[in-house]
Amino acid sequence: MISKIILEECIQQVSKLLDKHDNIVIVCHVSPDGDAIGSSLGLYHFLEEIGKRVTVIVPDSLPKNLLFLKGVKDILTYTRYPEYAQELIEQAELIFCLDFNALSRLGDLEEPIRKASAKKVMIDHHLCPEPFCDVIISHPQVSSTCELVFRLICRMGMFEYLPLKSANAIYVGMMTDTGNFTYNSNKPEMYFIVGELIKKGINKDDLYTKVCNTNSLNKLRLNGFAIHEKLTVFEPHHTAMITLTKDELKRFHYQKGDSEGLVNVPLSIPGVVFSAFFREEDDFIKVSLRSKGDFPANKVAEEWFNGGGHLNAAGGEFYGTMDEIITRFVKLLPQYDAYLKTETN
Ligand code: 5GP
Ligand code: MN
Repeated sequence: MISKIILEECIQQVSKLLDKHDNIVIVCHVSPDGDAIGSSLGLYHFLEEIGKRVTVIVPDSLPKNLLFLKGVKDILTYTRYPEYAQELIEQAELIFCLDFNALSRLGDLEEPIRKASAKKVMIDHHLCPEPFCDVIISHPQVSSTCELVFRLICRMGMFEYLPLKSANAIYVGMMTDTGNFTYNSNKPEMYFIVGELIKKGINKDDLYTKVCNTNSLNKLRLNGFAIHEKLTVFEPHHTAMITLTKDELKRFHYQKGDSEGLVNVPLSIPGVVFSAFFREEDDFIKVSLRSKGDFPANKVAEEWFNGGGHLNAAGGEFYGTMDEIITRFVKLLPQYDAYLKTETN
């Protein structure tokens, strides 16, 4: 038996909502990752299995490495079909909000979801959930939303209705939000859950290959270029930075997802505890931050880059040029030196 992390009251509330409502929408955060898509599809297939009418609506497109998952073809991308998506959201009786803690994480979907009259259930693991849902299942100590979806389904006594396609999607989110079980992954129960998913028939090695170990030549060359030419280490601050401009991305025929994981690479250098990756987009620079130990990546994201996230994985946006963000970054680093003391490896 796994321990009861989700409050009994929340389990009862979700069970009641599911007894009452058949017309369901699932949404997740902008630039959806493995956990956002995994939890959405994991819940989607389960809800279909128990006879619900469900649509997954994502704010924008999915990374390529997740397109193999069953149910991806049924996902509605808001930027492509805004009117149809709005109609479904207006008609929905119940909306599940997965893997985000604030409406602002929905991009253009923010307003339609804010206005929706449906009951809303949040299932998430980010700090400080905003109170926009009727039921809030928020557990930052749990390493993925997928794990919470699994726990919820089990606690509602419906494990037997969890189909293999759900199990696959749930495993993908557990795997990607822990870097294939290399961080936030030291709780024995996670492996109990993985065991249960294997019993459902997942092939974890095959899922790893499909999600984490499949690269295009362009992606490999882009990553090689970034590490060779665009990586700077600020030794006194135990920090690394990688930048990629629009022109550089174009040169390597960048496709969404091609720089996924790049920000983690410099953390493999002994002594580096903070890593930043700045990627230029059309209107802003996307900021990805990763850290080790007590260094608060989320604090830097909140204080300087209109963002947030977890202690060791955070992100945000910067409205300005690449030169400006680099200047800002170099200037802000000394202010966080106090966090370096405990972490000199
Ligand atoms: P990534 O670097 O993979 O885009 O994001 C890592 C984590 O940082 C995400 O799981 C999310 O929690 C957080 N994050 C990324 N971008 C943003 C952002 O623009 N705003 C906020 N609040 N959090 C972000
Ligand atoms: Mn997540």
